[in-house]
Amino acid sequence: MKHEMFMRMAVDLALENVLTNKGGPFGAVIVRNGRIISIGRNQVTAKNDPSAHAEIEAIRAACKYLNTYQLTGCELYTSSEPCPMCLGAVYWAKLNGIYYAATSKDAAKIGFEDEYIYKQFNLPIEHRSIPMFRIVPENTYAPFNAWIKQPYKQGY
Ligand SMILES: [Zn+2]
Repeated sequence: MKHEMFMRMAVDLALENVLTNKGGPFGAVIVRNGRIISIGRNQVTAKNDPSAHAEIEAIRAACKYLNTYQLTGCELYTSSEPCPMCLGAVYWAKLNGIYYAATSKDAAKIGFEDEYIYKQFNLPIEHRSIPMFRIVPENTYAPFNAWIKQPYKQGY
């Protein structure tokens, strides 16, 4: 019952975003122990920020509110299946679970590229549409070596 309530809220945020012409049709809610921690809505065009997806906005707001970089114990409710970027952010933030309503296939039908990007990630690098090249200067591993030796680092 509560799951559906949080999902309806995520979907309402998405709808409101479209009706007020503030961004794409996506909304998200982060919940911990049955309590809403944050909300997010797509703000890509409003902020000129291609990473301002609803899920990213919700994760940033939750981390700020909880003063942490990990959201263990939290769950994400998103109006549409997360894109690869947002799914990656969920893994980095270590959320406990994801609930979604519409699918990536549904989003593809109205012109959003989530499905396309998922397919790109499964291709070998040389077959992807955006070229990617490796360059290895002599200082390539200096940051990693410094990290290994850094006694005060905070692992994540
Ligand atoms: Zn996304």
